[in-house]
Amino acid sequence: MQPFFAQRFAKVEPSFIREILKVAVNPEVISFAGGLPNPDFFPNEELQVATAKVLGNKGNGALQYAATEGFGPLREYIAERYRTQHGLQVSPDNILITNGSQQALDLIGKVLVNEGDDLIIEEPGYLGAIQALSVYQPNFRGVSLNDDGPDLAELDALLAEPNHARLMYGVTNFQNPSGLSYSLEKRRAVAERLIRHNVLMVEDNPYGELRFEGEHLPPIAKLAPENVVLLGSFSKVVVPSFRLGWMVVPDWLRTKITIAKQASDLHTNGFVQQVLFSYLQDNSLDAHIDRIRTVYGQQKKAMEQALLRHCPGLDFTRPEGGMFLWLKLPQHLSAMDLFNLAIRENVAFVPGRPFYVRPDILNTARFSYSGADAATIEEGISRLGRVIQQVL
Ligand code: PMP
Repeated sequence: MQPFFAQRFAKVEPSFIREILKVAVNPEVISFAGGLPNPDFFPNEELQVATAKVLGNKGNGALQYAATEGFGPLREYIAERYRTQHGLQVSPDNILITNGSQQALDLIGKVLVNEGDDLIIEEPGYLGAIQALSVYQPNFRGVSLNDDGPDLAELDALLAEPNHARLMYGVTNFQNPSGLSYSLEKRRAVAERLIRHNVLMVEDNPYGELRFEGEHLPPIAKLAPENVVLLGSFSKVVVPSFRLGWMVVPDWLRTKITIAKQASDLHTNGFVQQVLFSYLQDNSLDAHIDRIRTVYGQQKKAMEQALLRHCPGLDFTRPEGGMFLWLKLPQHLSAMDLFNLAIRENVAFVPGRPFYVRPDILNTARFSYSGADAATIEEGISRLGRVIQQVL
């Protein structure tokens, strides 16, 4: 067959992280590469009970085709959680259940991105968003992520251009890959610019509830509700395999996004939505999340201390939640070269280059602390320290 692939797919890359993970599967390898939630916290027994309950109740329609927008009681639960946690007034009507928040990125691309449109994204940025949105052939415009959020001078310069971007993507809490969060001042500053320049922000927030230090901050969606699509997910706080996420969509965008979802897959798995809802009825999600974030906090501290001990002088971020931290190597060191040496010592991480849309930064790396206990972290980082000593 002559290949007749669609042009729009020409520049869509395979996920670099998945390629790395193939190397890291060897059980000898201590891997900080995967960004996986810790499976010790998957509520197996509770989900078994919930599954039996949903299947035992034949009248509930859990096995029938269902509404595109999602299971009503689950949408109400999510709206209520926003109300109590952030004082965010969201109608369940504005919540659309998606097949993971990853699908939300695809739906946004479908409805809002034309080929060649400028699209603002943090640098480093979430690789899955770069991949999902690449399908729609935007012109990615990077804005550097500083310790307290996006660089406002760079953002202002992009917004001053004629035909500037109308869409911006960002992760406001404990970003993947950097672990960085937007300060309250930056949230306000970004909200003000969204409104002033008529820009829509996709505020992706799968990690916000995993805060182990500091104070919860309001989402930008609270500050500029008409200019933000807020994404959420159960992947990091219950289980990722259910593929249950959601989007909070302003009224003006709701119909189009719902049509896109309908065209894509009719609706998210209704059975799984009901199982999750039953689990949430019978168990305290807050208590469950408390357990997860306590342990992630301990693991982050272990990684921080091990880095200070074994890799003195290296610069790294100090996340207050989530699953990742971001390492900056000396300028002349390539993280990819370091990866190739480190894997020989059986330790893995993700080199930072694919997280940039202006790929000239080679000396950064992502480390995940969610999956390893303190002793494993100590051993893995001490191996890394030895490798760094050798190359320096
Ligand atoms: N956004 C970000 C920032 C993520 O890190 C992830 C998961 N790696 C996702 C979205 C996708 O999550 P989900 O399982 O909800 O599709």
